[in-house]
Amino acid sequence: MIGLIAATAAGAAARDRLAAVWPDRTRVYEGPVPDAVRAAFAECEQLVCFLATGAVVRLVAPLLHDKASDPGVVCVDEGGRFAVSLVGGHGGGANELARAVGEALGAEPVVTTATDAAGLPGLDTLGLPVEGNVAAVSRALLDGEAVALRAEVGWPLPPLPVADEGSYTIRVTDRLVEPGEREAVLRPPTLVVGVGASKGAPVDEVLGLVEDTLREAGLSAASVAELATVDAKAGEEGIVEAARLFGVPLVTYAAGKLARVEVPNPSDAPLAAVGTPSVAEAAALVGGGELLVPKRKSAALPAMVTCAVVRRPGRGRLAVVGLGPGARDLLTPRAKAELRRASVLVGLDQYVDQIRDLLRPGTRVLESGLGAEEERARTAVAEARRGQAVALIGSGDAGVYAMASPALAEASDDIDVVGVPGVTAALAAGAILGAPLGHDHVSISLSDLHTPWEVIERRVRAAAEADIVVTFYNPRSRGRDWQLPKALAILAEHREPATPVGIVRNASRADESSRLTTLAALDPATVDMMTVVTVGNTATREIAGRMVTPRGYRWQEEAR
Ligand code: SAH
Repeated sequence: MIGLIAATAAGAAARDRLAAVWPDRTRVYEGPVPDAVRAAFAECEQLVCFLATGAVVRLVAPLLHDKASDPGVVCVDEGGRFAVSLVGGHGGGANELARAVGEALGAEPVVTTATDAAGLPGLDTLGLPVEGNVAAVSRALLDGEAVALRAEVGWPLPPLPVADEGSYTIRVTDRLVEPGEREAVLRPPTLVVGVGASKGAPVDEVLGLVEDTLREAGLSAASVAELATVDAKAGEEGIVEAARLFGVPLVTYAAGKLARVEVPNPSDAPLAAVGTPSVAEAAALVGGGELLVPKRKSAALPAMVTCAVVRRPGRGRLAVVGLGPGARDLLTPRAKAELRRASVLVGLDQYVDQIRDLLRPGTRVLESGLGAEEERARTAVAEARRGQAVALIGSGDAGVYAMASPALAEASDDIDVVGVPGVTAALAAGAILGAPLGHDHVSISLSDLHTPWEVIERRVRAAAEADIVVTFYNPRSRGRDWQLPKALAILAEHREPATPVGIVRNASRADESSRLTTLAALDPATVDMMTVVTVGNTATREIAGRMVTPRGYRWQEEAR
């Protein structure tokens, strides 16, 4: 039982909302607050107090006995914005309660005990059905006990702090198993059930065949990802209804596509009826995988339904994540979510350092030094192919002079790829300088490591002639010092010596600096590899110390 205590009208309103969500699990304690807290503390396993944390600390302090038996206490502020796990985070279940209350009231759960703060995912929040002794295994994870992962099928899981050996296990399987005392079973959606049916086949016959087939093959219905059939059967009542009752989507394919799938048991009847020699086997196998159960017919006479079961290969996931220029608040929430979802992180060591605190315990970090780009890309793709959830990180935007291209050049269509955009250096610098990118602009890398200088020079010349604002990336390093002056000289053939130039070093990082100068006055020695250089066009002005490139219409007015 959860005791609920409130003092003010606002608190009581939130309390009543919670009581309405959990009518059977909650009891409202009215009357003077100190008496209510004492009574609830004695009678309930857990308390939710819609009171200030300070007040609750004073009230429960004299009542505390030991953390194994004390009730868990959660405080919710009057605005209903936060659900704070105050006492009994683990033993009293207050951490879990804070999360549940947060979900019920739309409040942010606040949990401060170490393992939870590190963001250990609950086994029931991984997006997969879970069976067995979930509570015991979750507790073992929280308590830092050795938990072994036994993955019988590959599936991209979020990171879990697991070991090779342990007295507790998390099993990842689509087979019917009897979970042990200290075992939780995760059900990845690996099974595709192909179904064929004659016109008017009853739903019971479809459902019965699918269920019997799975059971006899020792496979779990919880791992069925979808039912699959031929387009002509997209409206076949029995199949549609069976998929609905199973709670999985029905996927259909063109007969011509199914006809091209190689199957062990083709036959003439479906060829005549719908134009493919196989429906059940072909529809199950069309996306690839292993045929676990070849075509079977239902026991009814005459049999109207066939089915076949395929285990599809676990599809790995590669997220290409831009971290932004450096500052934590320029890292997008989506990037953060991807970092926490990944079980394998691949990146340059200095970028890994930038976000290491965000990673979940158990994340495998594969970091390497400068260079080694191709190798990082290959590693990331290879891990995804092994069925892992991989995040490949880069500073700024990972697609701008960075890892996305080499990685996607390696990747075939057997993995899912997700891109998360980041704030690239040119934009971070632009915001610091003012509004230099207010009209057409281009980025040019001056690194001739991967690009011949003639090509770079041709592009600089084109930008110069077209009067486009230019941001130079990789502008100057110890071994590459003549390229920047050369590029500026080309621009100077088409722009005034007084054209504004912005130099930004370490944008949004601790030692950020920026300077506004001109094409004629720029000292290349002030530029290094931590810097971007933005050169204005012929309309760019310095206004109140800021670099401003007018938008087209004002520009036209000025020209008139
Ligand atoms: N993917 C990155 C760019 C990688 S190329 C992005 O989108 O920003 C590396 C070059 O980017 C550096 O030589 C420098 O010119 C520029 N750069 C990256 N981060 C920067 C920052 N915080 N401040 C200034 N320049 C930066």
